[in-house]
Amino acid sequence: MTTGDMRTRPMPNEIGTILFDESAIANRIQELANEIGEQNGSGEITIICALTGALIFTADLARKLESPVKIDCIRIESYGNHSSAVSTPEFSAPLKNGIKGKNVLIVDDILDTGHTLSALISYLKRLRPSSIRSCVLLDKPARREVEVNADFVGFTIPDQFVVGYGLDYAEQYRSLPYIATIDQSVAS
Ligand code: 5GP
Ligand code: MG
Repeated sequence: MTTGDMRTRPMPNEIGTILFDESAIANRIQELANEIGEQNGSGEITIICALTGALIFTADLARKLESPVKIDCIRIESYGNHSSAVSTPEFSAPLKNGIKGKNVLIVDDILDTGHTLSALISYLKRLRPSSIRSCVLLDKPARREVEVNADFVGFTIPDQFVVGYGLDYAEQYRSLPYIATIDQSVAS
């Protein structure tokens, strides 16, 4: 009986090409955790997860880090229900804990124009952490409008809109276990 097998869940029609499947993502996250560990040493890391897109990435990455980890979340919205940025990023949901003197690691899903990461770094710097590094699962350097790079990058991708593994299109597809392109003419 294959009925009920979660591994054979149907692929939505509007999904285009799968760029990274579950195992490619898991392997790369282990490598990222190793790279972060090498740079950071054994000291505590304060992860700031950029909601909502980085939720799943953060959960998986945090569990691969060997250092003690604290996790806080910040909500940033730049896309609304569109596939291109509609405004400058807006922060809401203030951090629960202070980050003064902490080694902060910003975790975000994707670095695109750079507005979000650059605004986030400026905002967090004012809270006087001892260091700020950033880790993004995906990087689209072709789209950069602000000069900012992440310290750790999972995969570099061309200028294509992608969904899955936390990334949405109008709040859909975040729970797909892979990262894929989407046919926006078909997506509702
Ligand atoms: P930036 O401010 O760098 O342009 O945008 C970063 C944010 O835009 C990401 O955190 C993500 O929420 C959203 N974004 C950028 N490119 C994509 C994409 O290809 N797919 C999805 N789902 N979101 C994206
Ligand atoms: Mg985001």
